[in-house]
Order: sequence, then structure tokens, then C-alpha cells
Amino acid sequence: MRAILAFAPLFGRLKGPMLLTLALSLLTIAAGIGLLGLSGWFLTAAALSTAGSAFNLFAPSAGVRGLSFVRILSRYGERLSGHQATLRLLSDLRAWLFARLFPLVPLSRRFGRGDLMSRLLADVEALDTVFLVALGPISTAVLTGLAMTVLLVVFLPGAAAIYGTLFFAAVLLVPIALVLASRKAGAEVVAAASALRQAVLDGLDGHQDLVLFEARGEAELASEAAVSRLAAARRRLGRNAAIASAAVQGLAGLALLGTLGAGFAALELRQVDGPLLAGLLLAVIASFEASALLVRSATRLAGAAAAADRLQAIAGSAPVIAEPAEPQVLPAGGEVRFEAVRFGYDPQRPVLDGLSFAVRTSECIAIVGPSGAGKSTIAQLLLRLVDPDAGTIRLNGCDLRAAASSELRRRVALMTQDAPVFLDSIRANLRIGRDAADDAELGAVLDAVHLGGFVRGLPEGLATVVGEAGRTLSAGEARRICLARTLLSEAEVIVFDEPTSGLDFETEAAFLTELPALMRDRTAIVVTHAAVPATFSRVLELRAGRIAEPSVPRP
Ligand code: ADP
Repeated sequence: MRAILAFAPLFGRLKGPMLLTLALSLLTIAAGIGLLGLSGWFLTAAALSTAGSAFNLFAPSAGVRGLSFVRILSRYGERLSGHQATLRLLSDLRAWLFARLFPLVPLSRRFGRGDLMSRLLADVEALDTVFLVALGPISTAVLTGLAMTVLLVVFLPGAAAIYGTLFFAAVLLVPIALVLASRKAGAEVVAAASALRQAVLDGLDGHQDLVLFEARGEAELASEAAVSRLAAARRRLGRNAAIASAAVQGLAGLALLGTLGAGFAALELRQVDGPLLAGLLLAVIASFEASALLVRSATRLAGAAAAADRLQAIAGSAPVIAEPAEPQVLPAGGEVRFEAVRFGYDPQRPVLDGLSFAVRTSECIAIVGPSGAGKSTIAQLLLRLVDPDAGTIRLNGCDLRAAASSELRRRVALMTQDAPVFLDSIRANLRIGRDAADDAELGAVLDAVHLGGFVRGLPEGLATVVGEAGRTLSAGEARRICLARTLLSEAEVIVFDEPTSGLDFETEAAFLTELPALMRDRTAIVVTHAAVPATFSRVLELRAGRIAEPSVPRP
């Protein structure tokens, strides 16, 4: 529950619409209580009246009609303002979450995809409805109970204590007991839903291979297990909710019987007359309308508490890399220097150990070596996706840790083997490299990567939407779109991490051969397992965490 309170500032911004919703919800219930109470009093009084003509029918029936209208209008207004507040909260929550997610690169190493998706969708939704479905109805019920108890203290004091006790047991104790009893099952539902999402995403991603290897059965078993786990947790929640519903109904019945008993006693003592007693009894029944949704509210509150915990876990996780308190400006140029760098994902088992090398501005070097030697790790270190355990990495003499990461990312660009093509137009895909690039610049960079003719030949040219993950493009075309995007950036150093993996031999050779010419006066560091063409200035070989031999300048 404390985690929900941590979101108070976001809720605070919507104080106005939330208070309006609460007021309208109270007005709806009050109109309902007034409507039934007045009807009970009016019908009984009319029936008991010996001379019908002496009874004023007009005022009460106008009151009944008036209250019905108030009830309809206030219910409508309550829904309108409640949903508006919820939708605004939804957008505020998403913005809050994205602002905290982005500095956490690389995300995938910390949260599974399914888990992250659950946090972004289900957890945010569980939290944005917390006012509409939980806090609002609970506050309405408590205030209704208080008002009805005061009414009884005035008109039927003998019933006030028993009604008050039973009503508050129904609207406070039962929901609290339900939240406590459902905490474990609630957390299990969230965890099981997240596991199911992961199983579904894995199944979708790997569908083709699973079918071709006839391994669909195992994938189906895995998702069935995730479904059964989720269903079992939901059943447990449902059972608790059913017991709580029965308890609320039972307490409502007892409150009615208690009021009836006290009412009969007061009637005999002539402390109350028949019509007033009928009116009060019907008002008591109407007051329990406020408790109708409370079981759902309590279940939601338990889910929202778990969701708030999970969202706070994202907000609270420290970025992998620390920003310097007083960032230095990186000097101009593209000179990169690794000085006795040691790094291990597990610090006990260093991947790089005493790695030193230097690359001059506008050199185009390749780093080769066996798989697992730590080539990609060099790329990660240069982009500060991880920091070295010992040693220093410098750009133009400045320690990378002394610069702001936003400036570093502007000066050093990365193109990985799985650089994504997004489901969007070719123009939008390219402009990720530089927002302001106009169509002439996009055309020039596409020509440079030999895609100019291809894109101009498409009926919609740059506006052509390329499929999800670039599926309407060949692997070579997709990779060239990513290369063009990287070339558009203004970075002085570009790191390529296996840029040709997955391409056929000829496309790979052409891609690498042309790369140095495309770099012009920028520095390129290309991590590759492919044969390095003679167009590169140097090849460094990585072995056992160091450069194997002094690198040989190329002729
Ligand atoms: P290369 O690019 O030369 O194939 P990598 O730099 O990707 O090698 O990996 C070097 C070593 O670090 C490998 O043993 C690999 O298993 C390990 N490694 C890579 N990434 C991670 C990671 N995120 N967590 C833990 N170990 C990793």
C-alpha cells in the first residue's frame, strides 16, 4: 500500500476531477437513499391516512421525481469525470514510467520482455483505475455509512449502534480482510500473467522454427503450464472474493434486521411513527448500494498495490552507469584510447584483462577474434552501456566517465547486428539517425549505401512503410537502411558490432569493402568475424582479453 502512496504526487494533480467524482458519487447514493426513504414514508403515510383527500400527495411525488432525475444526472456526471480523471492518470503514469525506463539501457538485461510488457500494460492499468474502482467507492461507502448513522442517531437512536457496527464491518473490515487474504494470490496472478506473456512472445518469435523442428508440442506445453498457473491463482482470488461478497450481503441483511428490531421497539414506545420507520428501513437498504462494488474494489486494491510495487522497482533501479556530477565537454575529434581496461560481467571472471589499444581520428579499424573473445563487449564499453572494472577509456583524451552520457551518445554511434527496422516509413526509420535530415539528404545517404535506386523505384518512395522488423525488406536491404540511419548521425566515432552477420557472403564482402569510404573523416571501429577487406586501415586481433599482437598497419 505504501507503494501506491508513492504515486500521490501524480494523483494529486487530479485532485479537482477526483473530488468532483467523489461528490457526484455521494450525491448519487444520497439521491438513492432519499428516493427510497421518501417513497417508503410517502406510501406508508398515504396507506395509513384515513382521509386520502387530506394527505398532500403533490409534494412527496414531486420529490420522488426530482430525486430520480438528480440520481440519473449525477450518476452520468460521476462516470464522465471519473473516466476522464482515469484516462489522464493513465497518460501521466505512462509518461512517468517511460521517463524512468529510458535511462536504464540496456533494459533487456534486467527485465524479461514479457515482464516488461506486463509492467507497461497491466501494471499501469491496475494503478490507473485505483481511484475509479477502489479508492472512490471505498470513500463513498464510508461517508454514506457515516451519514446514515447520523440520520439514525437523530430519528431512530436505538438502531444507530447496530447499523453503524454492521455497516462498517461490511465496508471496511471485510475489504481489509480480503486484501490481506488475497495478497499472495494477487502477486501470483501478476507473476503468472507475466510468465504467460513471455511464453506467448517466445512462441510468436520462434513460431517458424518451432513448426519446422516439430517442437510445437513443447512450446504448447510451456504455454499451457503458464495458463494453468494463472487460472489457479485467479481461482484462488475468485474464491476469496465470493466469500467476501457473501459476508457483505450477510452483514447487510443483519443491519436491516437490527434496524427493524430497534424500529419495532421504538414504534411500541411511540418514539417513531409507522411511515417514518418504513422510510428509514428503505433508506437503510438503499445505503447498502454503496457496498455493492466493494469486493471488486478490494480485489483491485490488492492488485494495484502489487502493480505499484513493480512499477516502483523500475523507478528505483539505479542506472547501470553513473552520470558525472559536473560533466566535462568532450574535445572535438574521433580518437579512441583503451588503457589497461579490465571488465567482466562477473568481475571474478574478466572478459577483457589489461586491454590497451588506440585508434586515431578517421581511422577505420576492424577487431577480430574467436567467438566469446569479448569483441562485442568492447563496443558496449565504448558506448558506456557498461563501465570498466579497472583502466580507462578515453575519447580525444577525455575519460568517458567524465562526460554526460547524452553527449557521449551524440558523439559515438553504434550499429549492432540486430539493429531494428521499425514498422514505419523508410523516411521515419532513417530520421532516427538525425531528426532534421531533409529528403535530399536522405536520398544522398541512400545512394551512398546503394539503396537510392531501390527506394526511388518503390511506388511511395521514402513514404513506403516497411513491415514490422523490416520484414518486407531483404536482410541486406534492412541492414543497409540501418547503415544509412547510422551514417546520418553526426557522431564522430561509429562502432559497428557484427554489422554483416546473417548476410550472404557476397553482400557481406561488398558491405565491408565499401564501409571505410562511407566513413569519410569519421572513426570506424568494426567488430567482425568476417574476412576484413584491404580497405580497412588496421586489423586488431583479440585473444584472451587482450590484443594478440601489435597491430599491423595496412599498406
Ligand atoms: P564476442 O563478441 O567476441 O563473441 P562477447 O563480448 O559477446 O564476445 O562476450 C564475451 C564473453 O562475455 C562471453 O563469454 C559471453 O558469454 C560473456 N557475456 C557477453 N554478454 C554477457 C552478459 N550480458 N552477461 C554475462 N555474460 C556475458
